[in-house]
Amino acid sequence: MQTNISDKIRLPARYGTGEKSVWIEYNEFITEVKPKLNLGQGLPDYHCPSHVPKALAEAALSENPLMNQYTRGFGHPRLVQSLAKLYSPLINREINPMSEIIVTVGAYEALFTTILGHVEPGDEVIVIEPFYDCYDPMILAAGGKAKFIALKPKKIHDKMTSAEWYIDEKELESLFSDRTKMFILNTPHNPLGKVFTREELEKIANLCKKYNVLCVSDEVYEWMVFEPLKHIRIATLPGMWERTITIGSAGKMFSVTGWKVGWAYGPANLIKNLQIVHQNCVYTHCTPVQEAVGRAIEFELSRWKTPECYMFSLARELLAKRDVLDRILKDNGFLTTLPEGGYFITAEYSNIANKLDLSTEKDKYKDTRFTKKFAKEASILTIPMTAFYSKDHKHLGENYIRFCFIKKDEVLAQTGTLLQEWHQKTK
Ligand code: PMP
Ligand code: GLN
Repeated sequence: MQTNISDKIRLPARYGTGEKSVWIEYNEFITEVKPKLNLGQGLPDYHCPSHVPKALAEAALSENPLMNQYTRGFGHPRLVQSLAKLYSPLINREINPMSEIIVTVGAYEALFTTILGHVEPGDEVIVIEPFYDCYDPMILAAGGKAKFIALKPKKIHDKMTSAEWYIDEKELESLFSDRTKMFILNTPHNPLGKVFTREELEKIANLCKKYNVLCVSDEVYEWMVFEPLKHIRIATLPGMWERTITIGSAGKMFSVTGWKVGWAYGPANLIKNLQIVHQNCVYTHCTPVQEAVGRAIEFELSRWKTPECYMFSLARELLAKRDVLDRILKDNGFLTTLPEGGYFITAEYSNIANKLDLSTEKDKYKDTRFTKKFAKEASILTIPMTAFYSKDHKHLGENYIRFCFIKKDEVLAQTGTLLQEWHQKTK
């Protein structure tokens, strides 16, 4: 029987409908439209601390030829050892660097190995909306089903903070069942900047324990929590270590997003499952980059808690930038949610939506049309919030867009100038 080749080249259904992710789509969009300012994808437009790339240069130029060859598959020894030194005191337990940590290609691969290493067809995974957009496709790729619960603002007003976005407890419990395999938490949260409180984490932890569910805690923004709040690691709550995989990223820790070094830590019996997916997928991450992150962490540990230590200076630096951008956005008609952590501001744009004729844009969702037209008219790129909602809940995000503020002070100031110019033009 003759078959059709087009049937054979079809994308497997487990990868969804084959739509581009918002990052791919918007990076292509800016090469066409060339907005003056890019406050879209989350990345700094200024230098990381100088000791970090210096460590990479030294590693790559090392007299030891093995520094440029394959290293240990589950994580370069110097890096896993420095990660164990960093995190052990923070979670009040001695982490075994060889069995309780894995180094991955960014937090993306840590998420991928965690999800693919545990979720089986038919399993359900509870995800908080808005959510970092790759969670859902990864769950689908594993044959699982995501069950979503939305954070909602208590009341929309002009001085909202991310603390006011909350999860309804009863609704949350109603999602748990014996099909639930995993719960995915993200604190500090992308895109809202919410820093989950101890009480909120305790409620989640109690449900994970009651229904015997694994907890994945995506904590890539762990060093970007604004005073007086503190980042709380859910793995430290009673009974949670044995069921929690915590994910981090050197890209966020040292402002080197292009290095794509991530990790996961947790009990050996869980990390082992990630190791199997990893060994059969990328096998290992690049050696000199891992060596450099290991050295950079050692350097920061040698000046831990001094004002210069990057893990602490970064949040102070970002707090000032957050306040500048928040003021600019408020002054220009946006209703912002002041974030308690991370480097994004979520803004409601309905008051100024009528300044743009969105009928020229063909996209399905209003926020996507708004961001594209806004990039063309005001010359500022932002990210539509619907990217962070599931297909059935896109309407919850349609009135919001996301601004990234880990940008040079002059870029933030220029945002204000461009917005004022745009307001003048559209009067
Ligand atoms: N999780 C969240 C919440 C993120 O915002 C990102 C983007 N950096 C990632 C995971 C992926 O991080 P990485 O760049 O280390 O793969
Ligand atoms: N995490 C970053 C963001 O939310 C970068 C996204 C990406 O590179 N895929 O913007």
